[in-house]
Amino acid sequence: MNCPCGHPLPYEKCCAPFHDGTDLPATAEALMRSRYSAYALKKIDYIFETTDPQTRSGIDRAANEAWAREAEFLGLEVIASRDEGNKGFVEFKATYRTGGETRVHHEKSRFRRQQGRWYFRDGTAKS
Ligand SMILES: [Zn+2]
Repeated sequence: MNCPCGHPLPYEKCCAPFHDGTDLPATAEALMRSRYSAYALKKIDYIFETTDPQTRSGIDRAANEAWAREAEFLGLEVIASRDEGNKGFVEFKATYRTGGETRVHHEKSRFRRQQGRWYFRDGTAKS
């Protein structure tokens, strides 16, 4: 199967090594894509592990998991991304289906690299 993150690559050659811990995403965009494919594959532990330890406590893990299990993830479009040293920025649109409705989530996310690992820091939804 093609990777759910939108790269035209098989999952095994794309986000799988990040999900199973054998490799680390080199850029904020790669991390963001791997988080999206983790949602698509319901690998919720990965979402939690790649959230900045400084902001992780603010996540309602149970609610996040329930939402992700119910939703169907239809596609990801990365609009812009850049890394500046240990900070990363990604703007994306994620399409998903929940409760019988298709929705597009447009977000600008911020990322932070710590000891060689990228983490999702926070995001601002755009309408
Ligand atoms: Zn991927």
